[in-house]
Amino acid sequence: MLTADLGPGTWATFTTRAGGLSEDPYASLNLGAGVGDDPAAVARNRGRLAQAADAPVAFIRQVHGSEVFHWDAQAVPPLGEEPVADVVVSTTPGTAVAVLVADCVPVLLAGPGGVAAVHAGRKGVLADVVPTAVAALAEAEVPVTHAAIGPAICGRCYEVPDQLRSQAADQLPELWSTTSWGTPALDLAAGVRAQLGDAGITQIDHHPVCTLEDERFFSYRRSGVCGRFAGVARLS
Ligand SMILES: [Zn+2]
Repeated sequence: MLTADLGPGTWATFTTRAGGLSEDPYASLNLGAGVGDDPAAVARNRGRLAQAADAPVAFIRQVHGSEVFHWDAQAVPPLGEEPVADVVVSTTPGTAVAVLVADCVPVLLAGPGGVAAVHAGRKGVLADVVPTAVAALAEAEVPVTHAAIGPAICGRCYEVPDQLRSQAADQLPELWSTTSWGTPALDLAAGVRAQLGDAGITQIDHHPVCTLEDERFFSYRRSGVCGRFAGVARLS
């Protein structure tokens, strides 16, 4: 696990593939339901994460949108029955929230009295899921002071069609990129950084590790069928 800095009163991490019970092609710490892995293995992997977090961990069913689930911590949503959302917020101390990724950008947010986990893939970035999450915390009276950006496919690897790059960069110029082999690409993390900057968030702990290049992480582009790793944030 990679330790992330979300400021005082928080605990945050980005998991890797290591430390779980799933077998190939999900080996080993697959935290994603609905990717074809044995649900019993996923449940035990989530249990290990909860132990590491020293807290119950709420996951969501992500759909590349910008819906927000405010988890008030009555009970952890059961495996496979998670609410549909791409942002999960908690304002309850001792509870953790998580998003699952395998190339998309996991973004964690925190401020006094609240944390959020955000699933920011190409569609989510273009749908303003990160500013939406900042606004959701503000509505909960949590001014976001810190953010962490986890491992994701990098701007030198994330090849897209030319027209898609043009359209995306029209909306958010920082997304424009070129692969290391000279074709059109998008730099999702750069887009997220720009959106965080526009929201006035300057304390950003960025882990610029490329999931496609670094086999410590799951990568959908590299593997096709694979597991999901998580970005996790907890309010102490
Ligand atoms: Zn890369």
